[in-house]
Parts: sequence; C-alpha cells; structure tokens
Amino acid sequence: MEAFSIYIHYPFCLKRCPYCGFASSVDDRKLAERYRRALQQELVYRAKEPRWYNKSLQSIYFGGGTPSLMPNEYIARLISQIMQSFNCLPELEITLEVNPETRDANQFAFLRTAGVNRLSIGAQSFQPDELEFLGRIHSVEAVYETVQMARQAGFDNLSLDLIYGISGQTVESFNASIQKALDLRIEHISTYTLSIDEETHFAQEINAGRMPKPDGDLMADQYAALIEIMSNADFEHYELTNYARPGFRSRHNSAYWTHQHYLGLGCSAHSFDGEKRFWNARYIKKYIRNIGNSVKYSKANTDDYCANYRDGLAEGEEFLTPEMHQIEEFYLGLRTSTGVDLDSMADYINIPELNRLLEAGFIEILDRRLYAVEAHWLMLDEIILRLINTS
Ligand code: SF4
Repeated sequence: MEAFSIYIHYPFCLKRCPYCGFASSVDDRKLAERYRRALQQELVYRAKEPRWYNKSLQSIYFGGGTPSLMPNEYIARLISQIMQSFNCLPELEITLEVNPETRDANQFAFLRTAGVNRLSIGAQSFQPDELEFLGRIHSVEAVYETVQMARQAGFDNLSLDLIYGISGQTVESFNASIQKALDLRIEHISTYTLSIDEETHFAQEINAGRMPKPDGDLMADQYAALIEIMSNADFEHYELTNYARPGFRSRHNSAYWTHQHYLGLGCSAHSFDGEKRFWNARYIKKYIRNIGNSVKYSKANTDDYCANYRDGLAEGEEFLTPEMHQIEEFYLGLRTSTGVDLDSMADYINIPELNRLLEAGFIEILDRRLYAVEAHWLMLDEIILRLINTS
C-alpha cells in the first residue's frame, strides 16, 4: 500500500518574528478558536476523499506558526480523529513543533501519552545577542529547559532548528551553537540560512539601508564549518538542510523529498496526491471562510458531496504532467544524499552542462546515480538550473 503523510498548519504565534515569511499571525483567542473548528471540519471532509483510501499514513506533522500553543486536548482529539479516519502504519511518526517559550513539562507528558513521538524545537541559536537580533521571545536557557522537559516526558527523538547568516554572527559563534546542540545529544538538527522574504520587517530594514543583507561569503564559510562538525559528530547529512543520527531521519520531511503523497490541512497548507497538487488559502480568515462555504455547499449537495465541496475549499490546484513530475523528482532528489537515477532523467538533462559540472567537481556519478557534491549544496539551485534541459 502506498504511504502518505499529513501536515497540519497552526498559524498562531505569541509574537511575530521580524524575519518570518510563514503564514503566521499573533495569537488571537477568538480567531484561533474559529480556526481550530475549521481545521477539524477540513479533516472530516478530506478523510472522505477516495484519493486517501488505499494509502497508509506514515507521519503526521504539526507545524506553524506555533502548534505548541494549541490546547492539549485539541491536539489529542486531532490525532485520534486522524487515526480513526485513515489506515495508519504502526510506526506512525508524529512530530510537533515547539517554541521554547511555550515549554511546559505537563504538556510534553500529555503529548507523549497522546502519541506525539518527536518534537522539533525552534532554538535558532545559542547566542543571546543573535536571538535578540532575530526577535525571538525565548532565551538560551529556555532551549535547555525545553530539551530537559522533553527528555523527562519520554521523548527520545528531538530535532533542533538553527539559523546561520545572521547579521553579526560569525563562523565561530555559529560553530558554538552547533556544539551546544550536539552537547545536548539531540537526534536531529535542521539548519537554515537566514532568508529575507518580501513583506517581512527585515526586508523593509534592508531596503531602507538600515540593515545589511545576509553575507553570502560568510554563509558559505559557515556551511563549510557546519558540514565538517556534523560529519565528525557522526550525523548523516541526508538532505540539504538536515542532519540526523543514524536511524533518526525525519520520516515526514523525507516523504516530501521522495515525492510521496501528502495531505496538508490548515491555511497555506499544500497537498499532493500523485497527480495533482492543491493548496488552501494562505490567509486565516479566507481559509475559515472557504471551509464555511464548503460546509454550506456540502449540506445542500449531499449526493455529490465529495466531488463538489473541494471547489470551495482549495484555493488553487495544478496537475503535474509526467515531465513536471520527473523534473520535480530530479530537483528534490538532488537535495538529498541519495541523489537521482541518471537513466530515468536522461531526457531532461543538459549533457554538455552535466559534463562541465562533473569536471568542475560540483556533481558526481556513482553506479548510474547522480549526486550533488555536499560541499556545493548551497549552490544547488544554480546547479539544477544548469542541469535541466528546458529546450
Ligand atoms: S515563531 Fe516561527 S512561525 Fe512564529 S513568527 Fe517566529 S518564525 Fe514565524
């Protein structure tokens, strides 16, 4: 049976970080209640779609926003609703993102009992000045306490997020943050370069000349140091931004990179059923409105319930042609340490560029598989653009 994953987006945060480009909003009790009701309704509807019937659920991921702000009972109810609605694999991975500021020993113990077996902790840095620059509301101590509480609650699979390319950060200060994460015996680390999305406060500051742009050379040096430290610590660099101890790769994220199917619930969430990608409205109120319209519509059209309500629910969709499918697999596969099958991609590869990139050491071919060389993963977008034959 084919496997699939479920992503649940909770867009509320205690405070909006100035660099944040995610669909998130400052917590608003009434709106959050309406949102949670809409989310449950969407789950009921989606579970009736035949496209998920003959598939096994391998992972659930609560992301955001700050999903650790959801009431405990609500999270437990969603998990149990999902388990009753879909065929679940016994080794179901259930991850919840946690902002260290919301740490709560009782919540962690409750979540563990409710089936959550992996926490992804938004540490971002172990340097107080960097956290302040990022506008994070939590302290370094809060990260330590979060890890300790999680361990006490029985979590043996923890992931930490770290950011580099922060203004004022150095190679040394980033190395120190990585080392502190390693000292905590974390199972998984995700590292992100500070990207500046339009419409963020940071973008405005940079455009107004009040803040420097992230320094590409510094990021390249930090990346080089990062891959060396993680390799010495016996972490597998299994995807562009992700490192895991053996046996602790994120099953959920791996599903995206191997082009498996997924159902996204909540505002801005995307779904993919193997043929079609479809997505929900980005903005919270629009999403709630779309769900409300779908409820009304489905009540009035019970005969054609599943076929029709979606028109009001999804904000957009695209069908993937076989060519788009292949190119996406290529793009996603090159982000990983498993690379891509060269023969299945033969029609789409620009051979002269392939040879040039091979000669320059940016890519390599082993046993008919094509890999991007780890030292150059930061340049993946450019490598892929050059490799793909668009003619
Ligand atoms: S906590 Fe995360 S999702 Fe929320 S505003 Fe900050 S970066 Fe964005």
